[in-house]
Amino acid sequence: MEHFDVIIVGAGLSGIGAAYHLQARAPGKSYAILEGRDAIGGTWDLFRYPGIRSDSDMYTLGYSFKPWREAKAIADGPSIRKYVCETATENGIDKHIRFHHMVKQVSWSSADARWTVETEVGAEKALTRYTCNFLFTCSGYYSYREGYAPEFAGQESFAGKVVHPQFWPQDLDYAGKKVVVIGSGATAVTLVPEMAKDAAHVTMLQRSPTYVVSRPAEDAMANWLRRNLPAKLAYAITRWHHVLFGMYFFNLARKKPQKVKQYLIKMVKDELGPDYDVETHFTPRYNPWDQRLCLVPDSDLFQSIREGHASVVTDTIERFTPNGIALKSGKELEADIIVTATGLKLVNLGEMQVSVDGKPVNMAKSMSYKGMMYSDVPNMASAFGYTNASWTLKCDLTCEYVARLLSHMDRHGYKQATPRRDASIEEAPWLDFSSGYVQRALDILPRQGTKKPWKLYQNYALDLVTLRYGKVDDGTMEFTAPPAKSAHAERPEAMAAE
Ligand SMILES: Cc1cc2nc3c(=O)[nH]c(=O)nc-3n(C[C@H](O)[C@H](O)[C@H](O)COP(=O)(O)OP(=O)(O)OC[C@H]3O[C@@H](n4cnc5c(N)ncnc54)[C@H](O)[C@@H]3O)c2cc1C
Repeated sequence: MEHFDVIIVGAGLSGIGAAYHLQARAPGKSYAILEGRDAIGGTWDLFRYPGIRSDSDMYTLGYSFKPWREAKAIADGPSIRKYVCETATENGIDKHIRFHHMVKQVSWSSADARWTVETEVGAEKALTRYTCNFLFTCSGYYSYREGYAPEFAGQESFAGKVVHPQFWPQDLDYAGKKVVVIGSGATAVTLVPEMAKDAAHVTMLQRSPTYVVSRPAEDAMANWLRRNLPAKLAYAITRWHHVLFGMYFFNLARKKPQKVKQYLIKMVKDELGPDYDVETHFTPRYNPWDQRLCLVPDSDLFQSIREGHASVVTDTIERFTPNGIALKSGKELEADIIVTATGLKLVNLGEMQVSVDGKPVNMAKSMSYKGMMYSDVPNMASAFGYTNASWTLKCDLTCEYVARLLSHMDRHGYKQATPRRDASIEEAPWLDFSSGYVQRALDILPRQGTKKPWKLYQNYALDLVTLRYGKVDDGTMEFTAPPAKSAHAERPEAMAAE
């Protein structure tokens, strides 16, 4: 069995970032990245629907260590994929990736202070085992096997094509066709204006509205700074500018929800004019930031509505019909193509099974430590982003913290770091979003606590101070080392159980 100091699971934005930080901050550690698919990029390689783009700016979705140099702040999927791939090749990270390695089961043995990582390799799913001292899961948060696709009555009767954005057929020809996009999340608001360029008409069909905010695709200040300052300095200034503005706006939305709501709705009214029914189609029932806001670059969605190429219908689906969709209101929407932009299916840890010392771990019963490790699960960290800011902001900090933790363990001769739960800490749901995809997954996600270090603050500035400068030995993390023994004395737990 091949052994590594660290195994990273996933070669997406987080996995490549994790490898970079490991190389830079814990040089000499051996590592491998096990990636289930055949490509780098994760999300940015998987999703291929028309117009695929980020919905946060690349100055904060980009890595802290690699300036985003393109003119567009809201970037298209291929540019983001290129950026991630470039990071991998520039730093020799690509040589550490083992593609077609789907991790199925990870088993920790305290006696050996190591993980046994079982993977299915290639199309034949050959079982291959590795061992490592530390496991860093960068496997994202949703299923790569299936999207969330509720069954609609009469679906089989529909004569046209039904497409889920996660599995976009590259040969889908929608030119001159009538398209209905079900949903009003980030994917729907991306798809609608893009498809409207060629389709006969695109209807966005939503059960209830979402906050939609337009921002310039290009950040003029960032581009000016890049032209006039060294790239790294310009990037750092722009990144902080976006971080601070994002935090200010989020806090304002929390403190004065009605004021922020009015402001957001007024922006939509200004876009669509006095005759448009903004109340029905763009006024959500929840407060801003109870769910993620939907960003549209350069008002593209509003423009396609203004020009009549797209429209919004707020109604409930009764059933699919041969010609389209019958609605509860009695109306029928005609369609040649129906796109079910109904969302993602959230999963835990890339659907891996976890066991510690022979006992299966139910991750839903564990408590998240600093938003990255799990109570009573040793030597394992996960990269997760923020719900109210760009993903990479938190991942960069998580990677820094993991490198600090590994150095601390080396310095003191520890082999095992386990966050130990304090029974007095009350539990809370891991995420406080009211979005459907979050609510559907609360039963499988870990819990958070109501106090430090178990509470998730979703606050970059606070996390930066805690994770970069806070004590690693904080009284909650238990550090141990197994008694010394000969290399062949015991086999790893998972194998011994065979
Ligand atoms: C359409 C879309 C747009 C988004 N836009 C934004 C945005 O603008 N801003 C933002 O902050 N966030 C956005 N997100 C969230 C986005 O997923 C993150 O920003 C980020 O790309 C996640 O990177 P990741 O590497 O953590 O996970 P992923 O991109 O999901 O990559 C995970 C990798 O792990 C691999 N993997 C998973 N399980 C296993 C396993 N068991 N064994 C081996 N390999 C495994 C996968 O194959 C994949 O390559 C978006 C998400 C989607 C779906």
